[in-house]
Amino acid sequence: MLGRALSGGVPALRDLLGRTSIFIRDASPLVCGAGQNPCSLPGLPGMTHEVFLPAEVFLNYGDNMHMVVVHELGHVIDWQSQIATDSERHFGGRFSDVWSGQPLTNYAETGVFSQWERFAEAVTVYVFRQDYSKVATFRPVTDFQDQMNRMQGLLEGWY
Ligand SMILES: [Zn+2]
Repeated sequence: MLGRALSGGVPALRDLLGRTSIFIRDASPLVCGAGQNPCSLPGLPGMTHEVFLPAEVFLNYGDNMHMVVVHELGHVIDWQSQIATDSERHFGGRFSDVWSGQPLTNYAETGVFSQWERFAEAVTVYVFRQDYSKVATFRPVTDFQDQMNRMQGLLEGWY
């Protein structure tokens, strides 16, 4: 689904994900919150391509599980992104470092690492649009279309 949202399709998605496999683990580390939450962690050695999806998550989200997976892949895309965030063009930044849109969902606003969640939620809203309201509570924002346009540009590599 994420691949279909891109004009470059699945190959473009593979690039965004860093051209390596994504490892799905069935238990979450405690740092993700009592080991019951879906989770993808940045920058820990050997963990940049892992998505944790404990069994409880499948029970909790049921038919909407694919939306949770896209949210987590949004994090992986973020961990793999290398963009310049300073005037000397050091490529040490991530998409989430420069993602300045209003939080699109309550979780994007209140998540513990809200800058990361704001980006991952924007990716998920970009892919599913209004359907994502089955999983997330949308917030009223004034920059929705602007965020969708910017997200398309980021994911399509226009920057
Ligand atoms: Zn998240």
